[in-house]
Amino acid sequence: MAAAESDREVPSALCTEFLNFSVKDTASKWLQVTDLYKEVYHHLARYVPKIYCLGPNLNPQSEDLLAQMLLQAPLEWYLCGEDPSTGLAKLEQNNQPSQLCGHVFKVGEPTYSCRECAADPTCVLCMQCFLGSVHKEHRYRMTTSGGGGFCDCGDTEAWKKGPYCQKHEPNISDSCQEDPLAHLSTDMIARCYNVFSVVLKYAVDMLTWDKEDELPLGLEPPDRSDTYYCMLFNDEVHTYEQVIYTLQKAVNCTQKEAVSFATTVDRDGRKSVRFGDFAFCELAKSVIVRNTSRQSKPLRVQVMHSSVVAHQCFALKALHWLGHVIGYSDALRRILCQVGLERGPEGENSSLVDTLMLCDSKMWKGARNVYHQLFMSSLLMDLKYKKLFAIQFAKNYRRLQTDFMEDDHERVVSVTSLSVQLFTVPTMARMLITEENLMTTIIRTFVDHLRHRDLQGRFQFERYTAQQAFKFRRVQSLIGDLKYVLISRPTEWSDQLREKFLEGLDTFLELLKCMQGMDPVVRQVGQHIEMEPEWEAAFTLQMKLTHIISMIQEWCATDERVLIEAYKKCLTALTHCHSGFADGEQPITLSMCGHSVDTIRYCVSQEKVSIHLPVSRLLAGLHVLLSKMEVAYRFPEQLPLSELSPPMLIEHPLRCLVLCAQVHAGMWRRNGFSLVNQIYYYHNVKCRVEMFDKDLIMLQAGASMMDPNHFLIIVLSRFELYHIFSSADCRKRYNRENANKDVVQQNNTLTEEMLHLIMMVVGERFEAGIGQVEGCDEIKREILHQLCIRPMAHSELVKALPENENKETGMERVIDCVASFKKPGVTGRGLYELRPECAKQFNLYFHHYSRADQSKAEEAQRKLKRQNGEDTALPPPVLPPFCPLFASLVNILQCDVLLGMLGAVLQWAVEPSAGHWSESMLQRVLHLIGMALLEEQQQLENSSEDNDVYFNFTLKMSRPGEAPSNTASVLALLENLQNAPHLEVHEGMIRWLLKTVAGIKTMRERSASTSTVTTSGSRGQEETACDKDKAERKRKAEMARLRREKVMAQMSEMQRHFINENKELFQQSLEELDASTSTSLEHSPASSDAALACVGPRRSRPREKRQVVTCILCQEEQEIRADGKAMVLAAFVQRSTVMSKNRTRPPHDPKRYDPLFMHPDLSFGTHTGSCGHIMHSHCWQRYFEAVQAKEQRRQQRLRVHTSYDVGNGEFLCPLCECLSNTVIPLLPRTMGSSSCEQPGLGQWLKTSGQQIKAMHSAHRKLQPVSTVEETVEEECPVPEVFTVDYIPTNPYSSTIKEMLATFGTATYKVGLKVHPNEQDPRIPIMCWSSCAYTIQSIERLLVDEKKPLFGSLPCRQDDCLSSLARFGSACWTAACQPTVQGHFIRLLAALIPDPQVEASPCILDVDMLHLLVSVVLSYGSVHSQDSSGLSVDAVQLHLFHLITVAHMVQILLTSGPEEVTMEQESGEAERGEEEGACRLYNTLRTHVGSSLPEVGSGWHLWRCVKTGILPYLRGAALFFHHLHGVPAPPELHALCPGQWEVLCGYLSLPSNLLQLFHGQQELLEPLLHGWCTHPGIQQTLQGGGVLVSFPRESNSLIDLPDDYSALINQASSFTCPKSGGDKSRAPTLCLVCGSMLCSQSYCCQTELEGEDVGACTAHTFACGAGVGIFLRVRESQVLFLAGKTKGCFYAPPYLDDYGETDQGLRRGNPLHLCHERYRKIQKLWRQHSITEEIGHAQEANQTLVGIDWQHL
Ligand SMILES: [Zn+2]
Ligand SMILES: [Zn+2]
Ligand SMILES: [Zn+2]
Ligand SMILES: [Zn+2]
Ligand SMILES: [Zn+2]
Ligand SMILES: [Zn+2]
Ligand SMILES: [Zn+2]
Repeated sequence: MAAAESDREVPSALCTEFLNFSVKDTASKWLQVTDLYKEVYHHLARYVPKIYCLGPNLNPQSEDLLAQMLLQAPLEWYLCGEDPSTGLAKLEQNNQPSQLCGHVFKVGEPTYSCRECAADPTCVLCMQCFLGSVHKEHRYRMTTSGGGGFCDCGDTEAWKKGPYCQKHEPNISDSCQEDPLAHLSTDMIARCYNVFSVVLKYAVDMLTWDKEDELPLGLEPPDRSDTYYCMLFNDEVHTYEQVIYTLQKAVNCTQKEAVSFATTVDRDGRKSVRFGDFAFCELAKSVIVRNTSRQSKPLRVQVMHSSVVAHQCFALKALHWLGHVIGYSDALRRILCQVGLERGPEGENSSLVDTLMLCDSKMWKGARNVYHQLFMSSLLMDLKYKKLFAIQFAKNYRRLQTDFMEDDHERVVSVTSLSVQLFTVPTMARMLITEENLMTTIIRTFVDHLRHRDLQGRFQFERYTAQQAFKFRRVQSLIGDLKYVLISRPTEWSDQLREKFLEGLDTFLELLKCMQGMDPVVRQVGQHIEMEPEWEAAFTLQMKLTHIISMIQEWCATDERVLIEAYKKCLTALTHCHSGFADGEQPITLSMCGHSVDTIRYCVSQEKVSIHLPVSRLLAGLHVLLSKMEVAYRFPEQLPLSELSPPMLIEHPLRCLVLCAQVHAGMWRRNGFSLVNQIYYYHNVKCRVEMFDKDLIMLQAGASMMDPNHFLIIVLSRFELYHIFSSADCRKRYNRENANKDVVQQNNTLTEEMLHLIMMVVGERFEAGIGQVEGCDEIKREILHQLCIRPMAHSELVKALPENENKETGMERVIDCVASFKKPGVTGRGLYELRPECAKQFNLYFHHYSRADQSKAEEAQRKLKRQNGEDTALPPPVLPPFCPLFASLVNILQCDVLLGMLGAVLQWAVEPSAGHWSESMLQRVLHLIGMALLEEQQQLENSSEDNDVYFNFTLKMSRPGEAPSNTASVLALLENLQNAPHLEVHEGMIRWLLKTVAGIKTMRERSASTSTVTTSGSRGQEETACDKDKAERKRKAEMARLRREKVMAQMSEMQRHFINENKELFQQSLEELDASTSTSLEHSPASSDAALACVGPRRSRPREKRQVVTCILCQEEQEIRADGKAMVLAAFVQRSTVMSKNRTRPPHDPKRYDPLFMHPDLSFGTHTGSCGHIMHSHCWQRYFEAVQAKEQRRQQRLRVHTSYDVGNGEFLCPLCECLSNTVIPLLPRTMGSSSCEQPGLGQWLKTSGQQIKAMHSAHRKLQPVSTVEETVEEECPVPEVFTVDYIPTNPYSSTIKEMLATFGTATYKVGLKVHPNEQDPRIPIMCWSSCAYTIQSIERLLVDEKKPLFGSLPCRQDDCLSSLARFGSACWTAACQPTVQGHFIRLLAALIPDPQVEASPCILDVDMLHLLVSVVLSYGSVHSQDSSGLSVDAVQLHLFHLITVAHMVQILLTSGPEEVTMEQESGEAERGEEEGACRLYNTLRTHVGSSLPEVGSGWHLWRCVKTGILPYLRGAALFFHHLHGVPAPPELHALCPGQWEVLCGYLSLPSNLLQLFHGQQELLEPLLHGWCTHPGIQQTLQGGGVLVSFPRESNSLIDLPDDYSALINQASSFTCPKSGGDKSRAPTLCLVCGSMLCSQSYCCQTELEGEDVGACTAHTFACGAGVGIFLRVRESQVLFLAGKTKGCFYAPPYLDDYGETDQGLRRGNPLHLCHERYRKIQKLWRQHSITEEIGHAQEANQTLVGIDWQHL
């Protein structure tokens, strides 16, 4: 790669030309010439190579500027005949803006479709139009655009209602379609015509130009140089990585440049990667080709002359220019359309538009995009030319599609994708069908591309190569086109349309014939199948065609003549198919129960059978239409009914259903999964409408035309059960049959399946045309049966229902009739529940139930009945009557063969022999009897008296069996079974049947009179219900046990191990989880009479109490003692920015950062949390070592990640699996000695001054000599009671000491992000800081959650705070004494000036709670050397008071100007406070001067102090409470008024805080002076630093818009910040700070700690100290990230109207913000639980662990 010249100057030669160039002169010259074409070409030949592509680094701005001046301006002048600025304005005035919006969608932009008014789902609106349309009040769908396509606003054909938004509403005046050219002068038209012809011709010439080194005639440059580009083209074969790697090698560029090249190639389709002479470029080309030819096919590279590239660049510009110019005027647009479609010299299909289309697949992506856009803004926006264009498109259709098959680009950049814009317009589609025979063309093109056939001419998909699979995917887009053409059904038929549609149908039948019988299977016996046969391709085809087949039926349903012809054609096709594969089947005669039938010998289990029968199924669909449209009754003479052979019709569908039954019966196990999958899809909601459902209909159609006995005999024979039921003594078969157990089992299942099939043939009447039902009854019944299983969410129901071609289920119309909606809570989703009155329509044998559904529904419905105190029998529901064409089907229920079968099964049930019959079999027989009885009852009820009811099942069931001897009747058998003890479960049903029989008999007896017989539905007797309850309870207990076991099994191996060892204890500890850990702590105030104080010499001393805890690992009890075994609390330490008031502060340098003082902006803190589980330190150590060892073994074995990083000290709490990374030792509370007189403030200040001096000099002695000499100061007298070199005895046992070091090191390591170093002096500081930060964060949380300060925290947080505070006060024992003393000295120096301490911070830069905690906790190291009897408590109180005063000063300094509010009436007490505040403020002003504004109102100042200091006081109360264990006063356990006084009392403070200052003014005045004169004060107050005002507000997550599409819109205009103006693929919003990021993309990867990370991970380190909360806008998904390796997805806070989230934005229902859920996420964040949440999510779902989170 040549060196970069960053700012390329415009070559001087061009400059002079530019100066001499006159636009007007050029244009005038052109106006005179006769051959404009030659002149313009000459001009372009001269200038284009001088403007474009002059070097390796293109400079688009200056190129465009020059092109505008030298090239476009003369064209515009010529066009207008005058200065374009006036000419174009004139044109614009006369412009009739198109009624069409035509807004072209960007990638990711939201689009809206109205589910009520859109003609089809491809009709969409842009956001602007949608908001101004009527549809926003309708049911709509929202999606994100994949780019391309445009807004259909204004297209009257696209919308059934409201086609215009407010903006595009046409004026009434210009409703007449006048010619837009009428406004233009003929001159103008001519000029326009000329210039468009030339420019468009030029663009087409250049874009379709394929020579690398030459130019078209007339464009050769006057002088040629040896300058070339090495141009790299994009393909869909090579990956980003391959291209980047190759480029680095071939053109020797950096990784970053290579990424940029690859990104551009991917976006624009090509990019020059090298510039230079020919040989130089050739070299790069050969390297690239060589490097990539090993993988499949080499990357495409061309070495192109610079002038060729230049002209191509300008050609694209020219197209842009055309698009721009026609935007001025609809007239110009029309002229451009005319020019484009004008037939060229080569005759038909040679217009410029044709040329572009036909060269589409040869052009690079960028060029295609540009000309497609021009088509959209010209041809598609002009209704007249849109039609002409559509015709050309249809004429070229076949060739375009063929080119597309060879093209390796995605469809969105292919011109073929324009079909959606043309074919979905109904009038256009109809015109193209009739005039261009489009339907036939599409289908034929499709069939021609599927070349692989077997000997019978059927498709053969086996042995498919990757290349063929690729083509197969491409060819599917043709089905999409066919769908567009058919999507709107014609309202009127012309003869020509009929003719062409039927011609199309012929072609379609040819296609279906190729599918009929494809992928046949043969049952595998003996060995298991060796290779799973290919099946997916065939099913993909079937699935894609499903809607087409349905739509063709719907077209037929709109015209009787078409239907009749279609029926005939389909029947012919089916007959043709059958003649092909019926050979070798021998005729046979079967007889049974006195009936015999001729059929063929055929066994599904032995011969070939196929699941693909689309021709039969289409015929079945049409047959139903004959009935539905009553054609069968009105024109029977026109129908080929006599040609129908019912046995032929049912044969193949029956085989298919038998195949399913046999698979269920386990007979096809050796055929592998491919068959199981096929059977699954056959019944699946995506396919069943045109597979299973139609097979059933075909059986119904066939059976309705046959003798029912014959039908049943054939069914028995195909099920291979004929021999069982036909034998003379079939009722006794099992007594003597010693068949193989498997075979018996198989036959049982087959019998069950067959009985079910008979039920379905007779009972499925909910399709209009079969039964007498309304259109929506079918869908109602589907929903009802889904809800009988359990209440369901909207999306679950949608998934369970078939969608039509418009992606609608029709559910919304009927759902309210069958269900009621229950809203969701903060978790979960909204559910639909079945209306109770609908339960009686429940059919246990609903044909779309799987076996699992069936048993779930049965259980649910029985439970429901029991709850209502009803009999639990589930009799069949009452059915609607059949339509006449199918009416004879009911006779199946009373035919001899069926009664024979029913009798046989009942007989087997009476005398059961193990395993030879099944309860399901009996249950089905009872159901069938029930159906028959209901049928009879219905007919009786509906018949008029004189009309004899022909259906008489009660009569037949009472007759004894015929052959061989007199056997019991069905009725007798039923009565016999009624009390059989082994059939308890069926008792209710049998009782119901007998009762119904009795009812019918009464009806018949009373038939003379008008009979009003109450319907059935007997209520059960109680005694059996009771028994059943018992059984049910037992069964439930068993279920619960199984469930428990399953849950246990899912737990991690380690934990299982642990539980097994401690089984009962585990149970126990779970129950006592909270109780056990905190028995030692008092939460209730001990004595409320004495005022409680938590700090100072007067602090209350709670009674001594042994503190005993239980180790969760060994279950031993242990007392907490300083000299005892160490007990530890599992803890998780993390960095945090949750409370940050300054997210712009750069992260500290961990090596040099001094954390002693926390800045009040709290920009980075260290938070410690705990799950509250306590262990022995040695138990924990053993556990952790085991985890480590296991992890090592695991890493060796397989490279799987865990949710925790052992190397980093992480582990899961052994009890609750909470992520932890260290442990905190539990320490006893320190016992302050209540002692005698304590010094006052003045006395103490003096003493401590002396002590500090003593320590200074002692420390100096420790230091190397050189530094000692610098400070020459006299030794001060050391107080005798203060021994500097006294080394106190360490009170702690060795294990506690060890744990003190462990936790200290962990906090230090995590808090500073450094490697552990036990010697680092910053360790204690980090621990104090973490204690203070955690207290502050909990205090904020309590405020945000509106909870009282005490008593509302979970025990685990109480325990955690206590151990943190006590740890802090003990940690000096683990560190070097002088170091901690040094910290104390420096901390104190911030308050009491100490000349020996340098660089003390100004008090505006110190967070006072951090200072308080650190100074109190570090004091221990000083006190240990004091034997004067000075009590720690006294010192703590002095320190506390001093810091409180400092904080008040801090607040007053930052209080800001007075707000204009009404001054309140103040009482006596307040007046004192206000006055005090004023006095202090004025004192401050005397020190600070004019930087402080004058404030007159004491009320304002006092209010500032009071509100500003409250969080600090609350934090201090929490701190001292946990440090000393003093119970809090009861008032602080509630949110009652008067908290302030109680709080001050608890803290030993006067409630008028200003007394702290005024009471000791002489002592404090000098300190005040010191604070105020610190140079930092002036600097900060004058805006030099970060000024934080108090109280600090809690941080919240950003505000989100209510409507989710607003976010999508925002994200769609977001461009990647790194790759100039590109759309980001995964725009992701940081919910903490609101930044939008370009996630999951190469372009925005950055390096972080030596690793490439994505934009989100990088952002978390700056914004959230490693923790991040994002919203992935395209996915509608919340993303949690922690560190580089942890992450999980979380449900977004957006819900649709059905109370469901839409992760992945697949359903497209409008989404609105759910505030509760968003608050829940915010709470997780505020309480530092994000990492924990991720840990739990990853433990629950192991696949989350494998994701490369750092690349997001
Ligand atoms: Zn629009
Ligand atoms: Zn509009
Ligand atoms: Zn609408
Ligand atoms: Zn233990
Ligand atoms: Zn735990
Ligand atoms: Zn952020
Ligand atoms: Zn990016």
